[in-house]
Amino acid sequence: MSTEFVDDVSYLTLLPISLIFVVICLFSLLKKKSKAIMAVNGVFWNEEKLQRLKCSVKNYDWGKIGSDSEVYRLYSANSEGNKLDPHKPYAEFWMGTHESGSSHVVKKGKVLANGNNGFVVLNGRCGDLQGDTLKSWIEKNPNVLGQKVVEKWGYELPFLFKVLSVAKTLSIQAHPCKELAEKLHIKDPSVYKDDNHKPEMALAITKFEILCGFVGLEDLQKILKGVPEISQLVGAAVVDQVLNINAEDGEDAVKAALKQLFTLIMSASENVIAEVLLQLISRLKKKDELTAEEKLVLRLEKEYPGDVGVLAAFLMNFVTLNPGEALCLGANELHAYVSGDCIECMATSDNVVRAGLTPKKRDVKTLCEMLTYKQGRPNILRGFKVEGTNGRTRRYRPPFEEFEVDHCDLPEGTSTQFPAMAGPSLFLVTEGTGFVRTSFSMEKIRVGDVLFAPANTKLGVESSGKRLQLYRAGVNSKFL
Ligand SMILES: [Zn+2]
Repeated sequence: MSTEFVDDVSYLTLLPISLIFVVICLFSLLKKKSKAIMAVNGVFWNEEKLQRLKCSVKNYDWGKIGSDSEVYRLYSANSEGNKLDPHKPYAEFWMGTHESGSSHVVKKGKVLANGNNGFVVLNGRCGDLQGDTLKSWIEKNPNVLGQKVVEKWGYELPFLFKVLSVAKTLSIQAHPCKELAEKLHIKDPSVYKDDNHKPEMALAITKFEILCGFVGLEDLQKILKGVPEISQLVGAAVVDQVLNINAEDGEDAVKAALKQLFTLIMSASENVIAEVLLQLISRLKKKDELTAEEKLVLRLEKEYPGDVGVLAAFLMNFVTLNPGEALCLGANELHAYVSGDCIECMATSDNVVRAGLTPKKRDVKTLCEMLTYKQGRPNILRGFKVEGTNGRTRRYRPPFEEFEVDHCDLPEGTSTQFPAMAGPSLFLVTEGTGFVRTSFSMEKIRVGDVLFAPANTKLGVESSGKRLQLYRAGVNSKFL
């Protein structure tokens, strides 16, 4: 046997063996990366792909009714197959882990053995099963949060993502800072259901009206001169005190006077307020020309007759956001959403201290004590273009660590990327159809879809039909 012949045989044998080895290695690597397809309760599904979510709805009485409501439109698409009552108000669509409105992971796949001899039909959608709550799924798969998020917030999604459709003004409210939230939760856990703070941000989808913070000193003095019903209610001494203050007296003096004035109004008895409002409304109805604030007061009185919140509105900034504009509301800042549809994001909490324009429990004393009494027009965010997204995505970044919101707008036939983030993201599709791709999966997306993307997932998105619009909520990338 010649040496040349032996070399030929080795070469011919080793080449296919090496190729098989490389293929096996690659397959094992991919299998490891995708954490394998698992069988859970007889259903096959892939653990590390994007997760589709079924989300919950709140039918608070201030919500827009049926198909007028953006919440109704999105919830009805998200819960495909569920029959919704078109005569009910649809106020809030919740996406996240808060136990007052949990989202559920959708398990898709073929059932191995069941009476239907194949696919399970749930909520009218073939092959979908409502699985774990997002909270318990995250607890089982904490790696999806990313290391930094776990270190800071534990096994919990730090933000709650919502859509709101407001037909009637929500309560005049503020959300406690962390320290106060802990105290309130211990004192009255049935009202203050968690111990977290709740900074929030509202991003307008349609024209969105908000009462937010207190007017500046000059405007406050004008109100005391121009609205005699308020002056009479609080008394000459308090009126003189506010009218004689000037900016040189310092911020603390102005805040103290404002706090006294606001507390007097909010603490007045129901009978007194009813009488004051009677006089105010009959005077306004006789006026030929009304200011924007006076028109608003008449609207609020129709919605909440005899409510002290109607008077409080005079002291607050009335802001109208255009679609694409956003407003941040920090801890202990007074506000009330008046009308419109918005995307809302907040720290995971449901702590609200209310004092007016509501049938719900009021806590006037706590509210008057906790407020910042910050004055002047609020800062409006218009977002900035996110690098590497072909100018298709704008980011709204509040001064809070827990969250930020992106808005992606893709005309027909266009595509973009969402760079990998060190924290988890929730995506909500509000218009159109398209595809979203990760390095090892592709999903069809359409209106009403909500997807959870694990930390460090890079996404490609393209529109396949009409204009595709989606919103992403994630942990504030400035702090990651
Ligand atoms: Zn709020």
